Amino acid sequence: MLLEKNDYEHAANKTDMITGHIKELRGVLKYNEPMADHTSWRAGGSADHYFEPADLEDLITYLKSVPADKQLLWVGLGSNLLVRDGGFRGSVIALNRAFNNLEINTSGQIKVDAGVPCAKVARCSAREGYTGAEFLAGIPGTMGGALAMNAGAFGGETWNIVTRVRTLSRSGMTNIRLPADFNIGYRSVQIPGDEWFISAELQLQKDHEKIVGQRIRDLLEKRSATQPTGLPSCGSVFRNPTGDYAARLIDACGLKGKRIGNASISEKHANFIINHGNATASDIERLISFAQQSVQEQFGVELIPEVRIVGESKD
Ligand SMILES: Cc1cc2nc3c(=O)[nH]c(=O)nc-3n(C[C@H](O)[C@H](O)[C@H](O)COP(=O)(O)OP(=O)(O)OC[C@H]3O[C@@H](n4cnc5c(N)ncnc54)[C@H](O)[C@@H]3O)c2cc1C
Repeated sequence: MLLEKNDYEHAANKTDMITGHIKELRGVLKYNEPMADHTSWRAGGSADHYFEPADLEDLITYLKSVPADKQLLWVGLGSNLLVRDGGFRGSVIALNRAFNNLEINTSGQIKVDAGVPCAKVARCSAREGYTGAEFLAGIPGTMGGALAMNAGAFGGETWNIVTRVRTLSRSGMTNIRLPADFNIGYRSVQIPGDEWFISAELQLQKDHEKIVGQRIRDLLEKRSATQPTGLPSCGSVFRNPTGDYAARLIDACGLKGKRIGNASISEKHANFIINHGNATASDIERLISFAQQSVQEQFGVELIPEVRIVGESKD
């Protein structure tokens, strides 16, 4: 498919007029890419452009070609993302293919690229006999997503083990930043300006390989006993309100099993919404609003979505 007219004017002189691809790029650039293929909910519209850079240099070349008024959306494994059915008018940047280096040294320091799956960080740390990253085992996203969300589970939180991160700005500048440079909260991180994570350094503590491995197995078992793992979802839809649990409140409203279109609130865990096959993003979003409204009416509590919702509605 050809680049659209007036779109990517900056890149015009770099564009192959036959294939429409920016010549210097070595990564994969796709057009009208269905985001249902890149989100764990398996629902939603298409992104105008979808780029998987080959490496950092390639990513910088691409960023420089994107006009300043075009939106960017960085994604990992799309495990906390809903793209509305009308799609995303901008460029999606996916790091999960190329940014996947992980090194652990003998002091328990880990250098990890943003595209590395969280589960791999947990597994490798356990294998080397380091503790602190076990909670990452059941989080089906990348380190980039975990940094952006301050992902956590079973008492562990991403930023508790981060010593520094490397970010990339829209203009192609890399920066080393410390945790103190960010406003970090429960499932939230305020990132300064137009910057995104490309890698992180973590500090773990020495432990015994077998003990760490067993802890991971226990956490995964607990998860599959209480959550509908294996079904298309985004994990917990809402943050827990202070002193309570979103799942408890939704359950107390009698909403387990509540269905809109092809999406329903899980019978197993009321903070999960399941796609039963071909749910639209609109089915899911209407269910989110329904749960919010019910909990507000019955308990006077405002449920705040943890999941990131982007893009345009269909009509
Ligand atoms: C079955 C299931 C269980 C889950 N359990 C948990 C859990 O226990 N705890 C928990 O915290 N979460 C959980 N989640 C949610 C999700 O896995 C996490 O939020 C995860 O950190 C998202 O990572 P991702 O790579 O998939 O990010 P995406 O969903 O791709 O993106 C999420 C957000 O991060 C931003 N982002 C992604 N990469 C970058 C980057 N490199 N730089 C800057 N911003 C970026 C995106 O723009 C978006 O706003 C679960 C999800 C599922 C499906």
